[in-house]
Amino acid sequence: MIEQTLSIIKPDGAQRNLIGKIVSRFEEAGLRIAAMKKKQLSKQEAEGFYAVHKARPFYGELVQMMTGGPVVIIVLEGENAIARNRELMGATDPAKADKGTIRKDFAKSIGENTVHGSDSKENAATEINYFFSATELS
Ligand code: ADP
Ligand code: MG
Repeated sequence: MIEQTLSIIKPDGAQRNLIGKIVSRFEEAGLRIAAMKKKQLSKQEAEGFYAVHKARPFYGELVQMMTGGPVVIIVLEGENAIARNRELMGATDPAKADKGTIRKDFAKSIGENTVHGSDSKENAATEINYFFSATELS
């Protein structure tokens, strides 16, 4: 099934000049870039995006990290894009991520873990609509 999913290259990835390398991994895996933009998130935008994690102890730290520099927000499209992107990313904690995944190869810590990826069809739709308008999606 052709799906769309939201990826974010987090500030630690953008700051370390990893944008091209990460985008290449998506393209080499057969995912298409349907939309992409680099953006400095405001505190309010980051809080809203991660609202589902509001009750978690790391919420404040997460919002601070996500606003620490520009991010690259990407809509990926392709066969089973949601699950495929999660496979390419690897586990949340880079120490537990499989070999060859983005987080294993690049992430600094469980917090600064280089990429975000939607985890379900419903969340993918919500997250894409949070950052992109219909006319920006092709
Ligand atoms: P994922 O990004 O793999 O879907 P979660 O949705 O559980 O993981 O968490 C969202 C983000 O919150 C993580 O990617 C990471 O940046 C941060 N995070 C998760 N767990 C922790 C933790 N224990 N300490 C600090 N930051 C965390
Ligand atoms: Mg998540």
